[in-house]
Amino acid sequence: MKKSKVVQSRIPEELYEKIAEKARSHRVTVSNFVRNLVEDVIEIHGEVADVIDASVKKVVTNMSAKDVAGTQEICLHKDRPCDHCRNIMKQGGKAHLVWYEGLRSPHIVCVSCKSKLKS
Ligand SMILES: [Zn+2]
Repeated sequence: MKKSKVVQSRIPEELYEKIAEKARSHRVTVSNFVRNLVEDVIEIHGEVADVIDASVKKVVTNMSAKDVAGTQEICLHKDRPCDHCRNIMKQGGKAHLVWYEGLRSPHIVCVSCKSKLKS
């Protein structure tokens, strides 16, 4: 095994018994069972996050090209990221609300992203 660390966690006896029972049924040690479980969870969450990230990017990319119902200039009351490019927009600066057909709430986008929209 490569360089490794020990992780300890205090858990209720009831939970330990469940884990130990599962480990016995898989014919592995409790330690191996927990390690496999943690590895699986991290891997699955990573894949889900990648899928969500890709689908959000696809939606934003598609939306910036079509179906804008309207826009409105606003003054930001706090720093926030642009909903399209994620660049931070500063409090007191200009931004735009962009309403897309079929969406209930507008995107808040920076001046640069607004200028790239088809009107
Ligand atoms: Zn932007």
